[in-house]
Amino acid sequence: MTGNNLEQIKKNLGCSMSRRKFLGCMAAMGVLASIPGSLLRPMDGQAGNGFEQGLEIFRNACPRNCYDTCSIKTFVKDGVIKYIEGAPESTFTDGGLCVKGYAYTRRPYSPDRIKYPMIQDQRGSGNWRRISWDQAMEIIAKKLIEINEKDGSMLGLALAKYSGNFGITNYAVEGMMTSLGYTTRLIGTPCWPAGIDAQNYDLGDMWCNDPEDMANARYLILWGANPAWNSVHSMKYIYAAQERGAKVVCIDPVLTQTAVKADVYWEVETSMDGALALGMARHILDQGLYDRDWVRNNSIGFDEFADYLRNEITVDWAAQKSGIPAEQIKNVAEEFATAKPASIWIGYGLQRHVNGGATVRSVDALVAMTGNVGKSGGGARYGHLRTWGFNYHALLQPRPEGSVGFLGADGPLGDFDFSGDKVDEYSDRPLNMNKTAEEILTTDEPPVRVLWVSCKNPLSQDFDRNKMVEAFKKPELIVSVEQFFTETVELSDIVLPVTTLFEEWTVNASYWHYWLSINEQAIKPMYETKSNTEIAAALSRKMNELKPGSCTYPTEIDPREWMIKEFNQGIYDLFGIDSWQDLKNGPAKAKMHPASWHDLKFGTPSGKYEFKSELCAEHGHQALPKFKEGRKPYDKLRLLTPHTKFGIHSQFVNLDWMEEYNPKPFCYLNPIAAESRGIKDGDQVKVFNKIGEVQLEVKLTDIVPPDVVMMYTAWFRNNPYNCQNLVDDTSSDMGAYKTGAPGVAIHGQFADVVKV
Ligand code: SF4
Repeated sequence: MTGNNLEQIKKNLGCSMSRRKFLGCMAAMGVLASIPGSLLRPMDGQAGNGFEQGLEIFRNACPRNCYDTCSIKTFVKDGVIKYIEGAPESTFTDGGLCVKGYAYTRRPYSPDRIKYPMIQDQRGSGNWRRISWDQAMEIIAKKLIEINEKDGSMLGLALAKYSGNFGITNYAVEGMMTSLGYTTRLIGTPCWPAGIDAQNYDLGDMWCNDPEDMANARYLILWGANPAWNSVHSMKYIYAAQERGAKVVCIDPVLTQTAVKADVYWEVETSMDGALALGMARHILDQGLYDRDWVRNNSIGFDEFADYLRNEITVDWAAQKSGIPAEQIKNVAEEFATAKPASIWIGYGLQRHVNGGATVRSVDALVAMTGNVGKSGGGARYGHLRTWGFNYHALLQPRPEGSVGFLGADGPLGDFDFSGDKVDEYSDRPLNMNKTAEEILTTDEPPVRVLWVSCKNPLSQDFDRNKMVEAFKKPELIVSVEQFFTETVELSDIVLPVTTLFEEWTVNASYWHYWLSINEQAIKPMYETKSNTEIAAALSRKMNELKPGSCTYPTEIDPREWMIKEFNQGIYDLFGIDSWQDLKNGPAKAKMHPASWHDLKFGTPSGKYEFKSELCAEHGHQALPKFKEGRKPYDKLRLLTPHTKFGIHSQFVNLDWMEEYNPKPFCYLNPIAAESRGIKDGDQVKVFNKIGEVQLEVKLTDIVPPDVVMMYTAWFRNNPYNCQNLVDDTSSDMGAYKTGAPGVAIHGQFADVVKV
């Protein structure tokens, strides 16, 4: 959309440039998600407009575990953020943010912000009192010293941390735990572990082509991905590919805004993606359309895979399983195999099933057998960590003398663990992050006595919320580090107010694109907030005051010096910079080939693409990418809980701008399912299953199939809605190999709906 078009639209609809009306007009036209973000500046935001003189410019980066990890320019006057925009230097961010990103200016100045350290007189009572930082640190430090004396170790201290802020220096939280001794860590990742393992078995690592290279695809399948909402900056490359003649196929059980933009949409039966991929593979094999040279030179196990396809897979079987007609499967399979280069974007929803890893392996095989791995415009695109080679100085702190932990264990891993092969005599105690509630309830000797929650909102985002409420009754002390009074804070004893991205120094890499951004402190920390590094230093000061030598973490932090310690020559060379300070002039792009595996040297044991992986078999899975059934239904409807356009996990939805547009939760139900239940559009309904229930408004729509009820994962500040009341912690098939714990079958859930 050009500026002229926008002016015309505004004229036609009588819109002024007020933010609310602007969003309303855009929504009325259904273009909000596809509009270039630079047109959505919060021109009448609390902090002013974008035409003032004397603005200071700072560099920031969105750290919210989003594909896009946007580079941000922040405009400040007299110490107040006036407005923000996407950094134009990054060809990926391209000067624009998403709707959520533009609401950032509401975050540091929100009246709901936690301003001071506070203590709750009785957990869950709501009786919060302001305390000083010194008092908070003293209470926590005394408790940590007490549990160490009682247990003879620090294993009674558990850390629940994940992706609320992916800035590299926020690994200070892990570093602080290390500096106290061997502790208990909730490890793994709820997001993408099954797919990570699958790609490691097939290719030897998770590594995707540069998303900017999608523009070179001649055929593009978006499989279980909804970039129109969740990676808006990737859409321009998809459009560019389409403009050059590429066909775009979207496969999703839900008619998403991405599906609307595709040339072909397949409403696949949920969790049957693997059957569909294998049916396509069988047809490609039968037609002799696979890339013989590529397979012969660059892979092992293809003959066994071909035998499996011939003996056990038919297109008709795939059609019956997936709900996609056989003729369509054949057509798309032929087109995909013959249009070179062709690529598949494997979304994370695809692998959030009990058969998720097996499914991703089947999709990988489709890309490999057509010779599309290692090619610009090709690739099985899932994610990468190739630009994350920092020192992790904040994370790698020494333990105090004489620390005792788990004897001889290997220690916890994680998808962002870079501690190398070092194996100490002792290790931390690993608990499965995806079974947080169960682990806290059942872990003993010692039990989880102190729980430290940072960059995470387990009550809203982790699974089986009713069990989580029980689990949060067990620890003797719960400390949350937060910006807002989330449900997790409500069940904590002490809350420590933490800085927003605008108030701290850090650096951000992406797990999708190839850009690196500095995050400068643009404004002074509001109220009494502190960064995670400063909180760690404050705790270290108090621990050493009360018991010298009990914490090795530095007691004073200069954030700029800390930045120097996170960088190394490898990072400088990769990004073509001389110093981290160069990033103050704008983000830098890694000097990597746009095609992953372009040298066709794979990280597998054989050094080739492995259609047959003995390592996968050793780990208890099938050696070949064979079909695996999904979870057996235990209720009448399938329950899907994807991300909303207006938030990431539990973040953003609580901000006032988002609330105006997305004020309350709702669920989607197909009119066919509604009719048999006597439910009408707008009714209040109860969605329930064997673990819990939620009550909310229903919207009737055929964007979801008749066997699905769908609601978004989100946290509303004034509404007790929580979709995790209905999502249990059943594991997916893979994830333990590379992330330390299997994933969760987030979309392998079932429920029913009644009118209330
Ligand atoms: S949420 Fe994603 S798209 Fe939006 S500003 Fe942050 S990184 Fe960019």
